[in-house]
Amino acid sequence: MSDFAAEFLATVKARDPHQPEFHQAVQEVVESLVPVLERHPEYREARILERLVEQERIVQFRVPWMDDAGEIHVNRGMRVQFSSAIGPYKGGLRFHPSVNQSIIKFLGFEQTFKNSLTGLPMGGAKGGSDFDPKGKSDVEVMRFCQSFMSELHRHVGADTDVPAGDIGVGGREIGFLFGQYKKLANRFDGVLTGKGVNWGGSLIRPEATGYGCVYFAQEMLKTRGEELRGKRVVVSGSGNVAQYAADKCLQLGARVVTFSDSNGFVVDEDGVDAGKLDFVKKLKNVDRGRIQQYKDKYPRARFHAVDAAASSDSPDRAAANPLWQVACDIALPCATQNEINEADANQLVRGGCTCVAEGANMPTTLGGVRVFLQSKIFYAPGKASNAGGVATSGLEMSQNSMRLSWSREEVDRRLREIMVHIHDVCRTTAEEYGTPGNYVNGANIAGFSKVADAMLDQGLV
Ligand code: NDP
Repeated sequence: MSDFAAEFLATVKARDPHQPEFHQAVQEVVESLVPVLERHPEYREARILERLVEQERIVQFRVPWMDDAGEIHVNRGMRVQFSSAIGPYKGGLRFHPSVNQSIIKFLGFEQTFKNSLTGLPMGGAKGGSDFDPKGKSDVEVMRFCQSFMSELHRHVGADTDVPAGDIGVGGREIGFLFGQYKKLANRFDGVLTGKGVNWGGSLIRPEATGYGCVYFAQEMLKTRGEELRGKRVVVSGSGNVAQYAADKCLQLGARVVTFSDSNGFVVDEDGVDAGKLDFVKKLKNVDRGRIQQYKDKYPRARFHAVDAAASSDSPDRAAANPLWQVACDIALPCATQNEINEADANQLVRGGCTCVAEGANMPTTLGGVRVFLQSKIFYAPGKASNAGGVATSGLEMSQNSMRLSWSREEVDRRLREIMVHIHDVCRTTAEEYGTPGNYVNGANIAGFSKVADAMLDQGLV
């Protein structure tokens, strides 16, 4: 690490010492930006980076709700509005017991660069709660969402801040949140994305993150004259992103052999087909079951339980996660942060993996990223390869403003174009800064430059 990056990081850590995920996200970006700051003294003079690591605003609030047995619970809600330099704040809401300021800040920080890469006018934000929707009835989830929105509605709006889904927040939660917003604000507008198609949502939004991730992998492979057809793919997670990443892989003739959740993973050597994928979608989205049940339905598959030490999402996890020992050509981590550590990355490369495209946000630790970059395999950081979700949210916002709905084909075509554009920008920017093939540098530098120039134009605010 350069002296500048080390000193900068030390200041960020001293200010918020208990935020390891946020430090991790900042470190990755700052290391890429050293040559940019050398080339652009005006960014250093204007303290652009110092301003960018300090979110514009954090709102943290109490979320009281009552369960079906009449017991009262109190969760913590928050929204971190990171940067509005290039557009209204935009970023998902996560409902998961691990949610804290470190996690929401790392997500909001990354979101700022990701949104910039899409080419659409969206600032960066993230929010959520330590509420766990797992095991709750629909009515309990509704009560929670209503209580959450009772506070959040003061801070969001179609031209101010437009939240979407993330882990634990899918179509059901967005529906309850939107209903409460509409009641309180007395406005039917595009305050959330990921809405139902009958009430302002966009076709292809549920598919967009997973599809976009595979489009990005396809573009990387193309640069060496390769394609997805016939490739063996290991997917982690079994939620929204994992399902549609697998879906697009199947459409393109690849062989998907795994899914996972926080209890373990299934390996299906026969390959997942359309019928099996429909089973997973119903299992996770409707029945809200566990991936282990895949083996009950398809007994030729194997289930491997994974203990908490091996599946922990901490940046310091030492134990290897056995999922990444399943041999593959392509790995698509689509579950959560830090699911690939250095040992896992080494294992993937040794096992013959030549392409990693991140569907999740920051699923690879800093040590793991170094392994991928040194081994010269294709490695796409999430802020580039999973940007299709927020890009399609941007398309949903456009459709809401124009009060019209585009067809599936139209939205998918635009999504594909955006992913091709992000790939090209990352690639050419990496080359321009002397690190060809390094999509991490490409994404960080291209994402940063647009935001930095907007901040210079807008003065010291
Ligand atoms: P979902 O809630 O739909 O699915 C999350 C999946 O990841 C589930 O299978 C879940 O298993 C698994 N998972 C969560 N935490 C862990 C853990 N600690 N260890 C192992 N597995 C875990 O979320 P999404 O699919 O929407 O999000 C997945 C990732 O993609 C996240 O990193 C998110 O930030 C990122 N992302 C999502 C976008 C979107 O449009 N939805 C956009 C861009 C990025 P379990 O059921 O056991 O919790």
